[in-house]
Amino acid sequence: MSKGLPDIIDPVDFAEKGRVVSGAIPLGAMERLRDQMVATSGEVRFRLEFGKEGVVVGARGRVEAEVVLQCQSCLGDLAYAIDREVALGFVGSIEQADRLPEPFEPVILDEPRVLRVAEIVEDEILLSIPQVPRHEVCETVGQEAVAAGADGNVRRRPFADLAGLFPSNTKQN
Ligand SMILES: [Zn+2]
Repeated sequence: MSKGLPDIIDPVDFAEKGRVVSGAIPLGAMERLRDQMVATSGEVRFRLEFGKEGVVVGARGRVEAEVVLQCQSCLGDLAYAIDREVALGFVGSIEQADRLPEPFEPVILDEPRVLRVAEIVEDEILLSIPQVPRHEVCETVGQEAVAAGADGNVRRRPFADLAGLFPSNTKQN
């Protein structure tokens, strides 16, 4: 965590007091995220405003980061900008989570109520990253290949190119 940021908080207490938590966390400190990134320099900036909206005790805010992922088509670096709005609702059970109105995502709290701010921020970043990251251009190439294969006009002849490598009339004596 950045200097001066509370690591573990009681979110319900924060909501009652209308507190705001904001700051930046180094990308390199996010262990679950680290495997998915090519570069771990830079940081995640975030802001969470805790409060009550009707029956919801929650937090609204935003997480922002620029991460470098690996394109799953060309294996090159893929710069990916994340700017995600966050709306969390703190609940004590799955039943309460089901009743949470849009757009709140449930965060189920145990007793004692603790929230690790860095973990929440990392969760939001993980939710923002595509499961199969690809450059836009690589995505298009992939879809064309799929479409060509699907209409039956393109036959797959994996050894077709090999034929040209050998003189066709060679006989071994
Ligand atoms: Zn690519």
